[in-house]
Amino acid sequence: MIIVMKNGASQEELAEVEKKIIALGYQPHVIHGETRNVVGAVGDERGKEKLQIIESMQGVERVVPILKPYKLASREVQPEPSEIEIVPGLGIGGKEFVVVAGPCSVESQKQICETAEAVKQSGARLLRGGAFKPRTSPYSFQGMEEDGLKLLAEARKLTGLPIVTEVVNPRDVELVAKYADIMQVGARNTQNFALLKMLGQLDKPILLKRGMAVTIQEFLMSAEYILSEGNRRVILCERGIRTFETATRNTLDISAVPVLKQQTHLPVMIDPSHATGHSHLVPSMCYAAAAAGADGLLVEVHPCPEEASSDGPQSLRPAEFDAMMKKLRAFVEVTGRKMAG
Ligand code: PEP
Ligand code: MN
Repeated sequence: MIIVMKNGASQEELAEVEKKIIALGYQPHVIHGETRNVVGAVGDERGKEKLQIIESMQGVERVVPILKPYKLASREVQPEPSEIEIVPGLGIGGKEFVVVAGPCSVESQKQICETAEAVKQSGARLLRGGAFKPRTSPYSFQGMEEDGLKLLAEARKLTGLPIVTEVVNPRDVELVAKYADIMQVGARNTQNFALLKMLGQLDKPILLKRGMAVTIQEFLMSAEYILSEGNRRVILCERGIRTFETATRNTLDISAVPVLKQQTHLPVMIDPSHATGHSHLVPSMCYAAAAAGADGLLVEVHPCPEEASSDGPQSLRPAEFDAMMKKLRAFVEVTGRKMAG
């Protein structure tokens, strides 16, 4: 249920409403709006009618059911888009278009530091790099683990770029959280509910990728797992879904951007690298993402793709990334935004 407070309702009235929601066996989630506050009361769908009684409390305008199965992620609860603060002065989901770039995997100090400097120079605002890699084959490179996280921290120190890195296993959440500015949940873990619940308890932004066989509704239910645990800083990332097509690694569902934008207040990014699997297809999908209204990009860049331990064929060289970034600006501006930086 959504409890819509009156314009001008006091803090005490809001606190009373929260108390009552808890007493009725639900969890209150306050969303501070520009003119009024609303409180999402979430919990067991059965018996939620009892929350209607709150309508008679002081300061309450009305109590309305949330129709979507995802509650806190929905625009019903929060009509305004969420801008997620990553570090002071850098937000995702606001007026600025944010590009995250870096290699698929962290491989060496030279590789990650060189890439960080190059992508920063071209206008990326965050550095990506996997230290724990979810690989299809157990015989493929699995990542440098904590040594990789240390190298990411070194690259951050060198460039000032915050880092996005994946956590694959719930057992590593604490370790990855020590280093990451944004914790990435990969496509293979979109519905790892135990992991999502743990990430919901962190005070850290989460980049949640869409699984390759996950519908938009299921994707939003995964986001709901994180939100319902109390972590409001969730960024969605469309990275292509599996279809019958084999010309590309996956099929980029570009229409997921406007669909998600309509359904949720959460920011939406596009990963054109895993979506296409081929570096020459990446720039056009970057432009399409900006034109479709995405909030940013997650792009794989490697100083020497032919030597990459993972995902070389889809990684842009720094010079290619730079050329893409120069052209991207016009697409971003045409949608009324500007490039962050
Ligand atoms: C990645 O970002 O390197 C990655 C493994 O992506 P995905 O989970 O989308 O396949
Ligand atoms: Mn990759």
